[in-house]
Amino acid sequence: PITVGVLALQGGVVEHLNLLRKAATHVLTSQPQPSADNGIDFAFIEVRTAPQLAQCDALIIPGGESTTMAIVARRLGLLDPLRDFVKVQHKPVWGTCAGLVMLAEQASATKQGGQELVGGLDVRVLRNRYGTQMQSFVAGLDLGFLKEAKNGEAAAAPFRAVFIRAPVVEEIIADGRQDGGEGKGKAPVEVLGVYGGEGGTGGGEGKGDIVAVRQGNVFGTSFHPELTDDVRIHVWWLRQVVDAARHGRLVLNGA
Ligand code: GLN
Repeated sequence: PITVGVLALQGGVVEHLNLLRKAATHVLTSQPQPSADNGIDFAFIEVRTAPQLAQCDALIIPGGESTTMAIVARRLGLLDPLRDFVKVQHKPVWGTCAGLVMLAEQASATKQGGQELVGGLDVRVLRNRYGTQMQSFVAGLDLGFLKEAKNGEAAAAPFRAVFIRAPVVEEIIADGRQDGGEGKGKAPVEVLGVYGGEGGTGGGEGKGDIVAVRQGNVFGTSFHPELTDDVRIHVWWLRQVVDAARHGRLVLNGA
């Protein structure tokens, strides 16, 4: 099977596993010719150890609290295996909220100060952009990338995005990786979702906050699709996971 892990050190693990299972049925039933021998099969597992991570073809890092998650990952000896998974093996990884923080190369110091990160996305995130838990909110996001999905008119509907102590991408950095300037051949950072502001093309001054990005195999969202019953993003991501598992690479937009 294609094994998809959810990092289960802390945070919203079960919610992701539930939505992944639901999304998997959509992905499986929409295969061109479902049959026993072209058949894809998924396994979804919780990941707490390096051997479990090694079984995975793809990984979700859930929301929660990124400082805590980093401390636990360090203690369990998972930080370097995670970095290897993301940056050396280039397997598909999706971080939601705290997971996005973990996947950023840099997190700007709020009160929490510095912390260890996995990295992979050449961005700097600003943690807790919208304040405390009390300031949590839901916003309809127009996510253009979902329109490429093959699920009909529903694909165009705004996505009800849940923001809880959410980070945003504050800046796309040219080459933030500390692993020694292998700038060439790297995928660019694509802005896939913007909240607030006009236009929604993302990135520029006055154009709202960047809340979804992808760079090659690494995808991050500020918000929590797993806290809704909207499977669209999970389906979209799982299709890329299938593609990566089959072809050993990710097909990027327009590539
Ligand atoms: N504020 C948290 C952090 O910085 C993320 C919150 C969340 O995942 N809902 O890690």
